[in-house]
Amino acid sequence: MPRPTSVTITAPDGRSATAPDEQWERVVTGALGDIVASDEVRAVAERLIADHLRWSFLRSRPIAYLVDRRKDAAEPKPGAHAFGDVRLVPALWRGLAGVEAALIVKQVAWDSLTDRQREALVHHLLMHLDVNQKGALVLAGHDLEEFGATVREYGQWMPDVEHFAEQLGMFEASAA
Ligand SMILES: [Zn+2]
Repeated sequence: MPRPTSVTITAPDGRSATAPDEQWERVVTGALGDIVASDEVRAVAERLIADHLRWSFLRSRPIAYLVDRRKDAAEPKPGAHAFGDVRLVPALWRGLAGVEAALIVKQVAWDSLTDRQREALVHHLLMHLDVNQKGALVLAGHDLEEFGATVREYGQWMPDVEHFAEQLGMFEASAA
């Protein structure tokens, strides 16, 4: 499916857009600023999807692979989510965005990881995607900041998360 490069969005009248909607409007319109498509993340993800039967449901679904170039991107998150995140595209925006979900990796983290760690991170993020009984894409959670399947395949792949969090400036707000 061709991805739209330019789409004009008219805000729903009488309703101010919520933050997530504003975010997806930026995805749809290409006005992403520091969040941009990544062929590197896409290549790793598409290889994993092709190699693992568990992700056969993803083979026919368009997914955006993005890197977030902001250094002070987000609130601190535990475990692998210090490095990246996966989001479902809200139904309102799916048709316009041309994608159903987005993997978003922090550029500063990606640049610091080895190829093996990058693959483990993408593996972890893909593990969050699942389908429900109706065949709709849903997010799957994990209890221990990690998926057993990812650990079985890659071991304890994550570098020191706190060290990375410092690099990312995540904990500046809590510094005395
Ligand atoms: Zn996770």
